[in-house]
Amino acid sequence: MWNEKKYHSLDYEMKKIFGEKAIKLIIDGGFTCPNRDGTAGYRGCIFCSERGSGDFSSERCKSIEKQIEEQKQIMSGKWKSSTYIAYFQSYTNTYDSVENLRKRFYEALDCENIKGLAIATRPDCIDEQVLELLSELNSKTFLWIELGLQTADDKTAEFLRRGYKTQQFREVCSQLKNKNIRTVVHMIMGLPGEIKTDMLNTVKYVAELNLWGVKIHMLHILRGTDLADYYMQNPFHILTLEEYVDVVCDSLELLSEGTVVHRLTGDGKKSDLIEPLWTLHKLKVLSDIDKTLKIRESYQGKKFSL
Ligand code: SF4
Repeated sequence: MWNEKKYHSLDYEMKKIFGEKAIKLIIDGGFTCPNRDGTAGYRGCIFCSERGSGDFSSERCKSIEKQIEEQKQIMSGKWKSSTYIAYFQSYTNTYDSVENLRKRFYEALDCENIKGLAIATRPDCIDEQVLELLSELNSKTFLWIELGLQTADDKTAEFLRRGYKTQQFREVCSQLKNKNIRTVVHMIMGLPGEIKTDMLNTVKYVAELNLWGVKIHMLHILRGTDLADYYMQNPFHILTLEEYVDVVCDSLELLSEGTVVHRLTGDGKKSDLIEPLWTLHKLKVLSDIDKTLKIRESYQGKKFSL
């Protein structure tokens, strides 16, 4: 339905819009996070890596321009395209003064062939002024905002030390929607204490908001995180590949056909990954999802209803 896929992939969407593949360049804007500087907490989300979940970005001490150049070089060995999206991924990318944020984002936009911006942040870091800036950027470039919901269950979120309530996520999504700003939500499958019904409840919650995009990840237990310590002391069930594929296919069925699927597998740093090791076989995960949808004679949106 979406070229060869049974789900609405980001690759399909980008080719439709830009006429070619869009390559994401991972930038570290030099920001921190309220979950780490003491505003909402000091130790971050329980699963967050040392680099604020931006393990593949360039070094933060380098200018945005330099990082973009470096990333372009790395990516040019992999893909041939001149459409780039500057992806501010590490930490919380709207957590600074509006002047500084503006400076950073325009520094990226001014680089050659940057056709869009992707900004990862948290709902509690989007106030009126930030919203205005995002709206301004949205009128100038192809913009999307990424929000890490992970789960719609506030109890699990508390365990994760997410640092904001699900209701706040809903409110900010609606403010972004009112400004016609594309929103992408991250969800994590296999969180401690959650069973399949809980995971699908999060997906239903997101489906009901009918956002522009989603990222579905498997929980990664990475060395050096508090989650790794917790897992050593309280081993909990890690989804098998088969269980993950099953819940992802159920999730795709529940989402609207129009929702762009940005990711169905996570990228953990191989050397830091404790569990689940099957996530290292990204192509197998994706191919098993394709096969399962085919066997089910199913596709994204099959069970979507508002
Ligand atoms: S909000 Fe993001 S950067 Fe901050 S601690 Fe959580 S995962 Fe890490």
